[in-house]
Amino acid sequence: MAKNSPKTDDEADREVEKTSEQGITPLAEEPHANGQPCQADFSSRQHFPSVPDAPPDGPSAHPLEIHRASAYSVAQEQVTRVAKVMNLDEDMVEYLRMPRRELIVHFPVVMDDESIRMFTGFRVHHNTTLGPTKGGIRYHPDVDLDECRALAMWMSWKCALMNLPYGGAKGGVIVDPKALSQNELRRMTRRYATEITPFIGPEIDIPAPDVGTNAQIMAWIMDTYSMHKGYSVPAVITGKPLGVGGTVGREYATGLGVTYVTRAMLKRKLGKNIEDATVAVQGFGNVGSWTARTMHERGARVVAVSDVHGGVYHPLGLDPRHLRAYADQHGGVLGYPGADTLTNEELLELNVDILVPAALEGQITAENADLIRARVIAEGANGPTTPEADEILNDKGIMVIPDILCNAGGVVVSYFEWVQDLQAFFWDEGEIRHQMERKLLDNLDEVLSVTLRTGHDLRTAAYTIAIGRIIQAVKLRGIYP
Ligand code: NAD
Repeated sequence: MAKNSPKTDDEADREVEKTSEQGITPLAEEPHANGQPCQADFSSRQHFPSVPDAPPDGPSAHPLEIHRASAYSVAQEQVTRVAKVMNLDEDMVEYLRMPRRELIVHFPVVMDDESIRMFTGFRVHHNTTLGPTKGGIRYHPDVDLDECRALAMWMSWKCALMNLPYGGAKGGVIVDPKALSQNELRRMTRRYATEITPFIGPEIDIPAPDVGTNAQIMAWIMDTYSMHKGYSVPAVITGKPLGVGGTVGREYATGLGVTYVTRAMLKRKLGKNIEDATVAVQGFGNVGSWTARTMHERGARVVAVSDVHGGVYHPLGLDPRHLRAYADQHGGVLGYPGADTLTNEELLELNVDILVPAALEGQITAENADLIRARVIAEGANGPTTPEADEILNDKGIMVIPDILCNAGGVVVSYFEWVQDLQAFFWDEGEIRHQMERKLLDNLDEVLSVTLRTGHDLRTAAYTIAIGRIIQAVKLRGIYP
């Protein structure tokens, strides 16, 4: 691959950094910010993101769950608003607001006690104009068809914004994966994969991990699909372990991408360095923990993180590596030694430079937007901010880096994984990081130039570019027949 383009921000960093086996710059064995020694070497082992923690009394017991706005209504409202700005015809708006295909499956799984339990799963393809669809698979008790439609739609915009040859998809199963044994999880995954097999494939739809799923689950899906075909098809899914056609860098790609994009926005829009920034992260799964870690490694002070059970806070900063090791051992961040406890609501309202919602959609709404004190909201999660909250935040002068730009590092590296699997030729880690950063920053530049030209906020600018690219392709292809 050509490498004669100017150095990206992170390439400059890397000249003074040593790359670890995992590809993330390892930290020296430094004492914890609270003065406690490092208890675990997190950098030396394969880390599968943890499945989501279910609140003790079921998902509806959590206060934030009660406030969650309907993701599908948010996604549709966003299109309607942007359509007005773009002066789109009503029939084109109708076309963009609707998914192309939706699959609902009900399937039995034999549990460890030999009882049979029925599960319900989904897979939605939103738009296929630019290519096969791409999007995650979520295991969560609240998964439903509308949520999959919303997440599939957001994937269409994200892929178009990143100039990837994909449309958007999303799927999931209504399940709390933590309530299943490993064998039950494997059997359920294989049966779900079998049910959606006619709907997926390297040229049709390529799933990836999302909330509650991880690299191991991707490996089971790849194997199940391959068994039905009679030969190995690694390109059917991304986010796989390295040993079965995964790519270096995919596990941390979303979090590292959030850090790249946020660092660049901070510098270009506010003239501030990430080293001088304080950060709070809601959600400590794959996206949240890698965002916290990669920001910390670049000098930011991560003062608070949370998971579904609540959060921890220390004004001098937390070390996300130690916190990850602690959370793996104790099932969450609560009780982390030396830190204060805070609720998810309190975390969202902290006076920090960067707030990273990295849990679920619908967290920042008209009800709490006025209480947000962060200077920048970097959307690690998909759809964490409702349109009403967007307006309030804009009025308050808070910069919102939209999900389809901010967390696109994951799908960009998933695209690299798919390309490598199709070509059976694998790139090294430097190449992956270099190409990911360039893609993110090139598209960030485009978004910024639209904001300068039009005066629109970042989300409107990003949507305008993404939807514009899809409409251009629709016009070139024509509506069949
Ligand atoms: P994950 O399952 O690895 O982690 C989710 C985290 O959120 C867990 O720590 C969980 O305890 C916490 N959480 C759940 N409900 C919460 C609540 N109500 N309040 C606070 N914390 C809560 O999931 P993930 O893969 O990190 O995905 C997180 C978000 O990022 C989702 O919106 C997902 O769609 C989005 N995303 C993920 C990827 C990816 O590559 N995994 C890529 C782009 C976007």
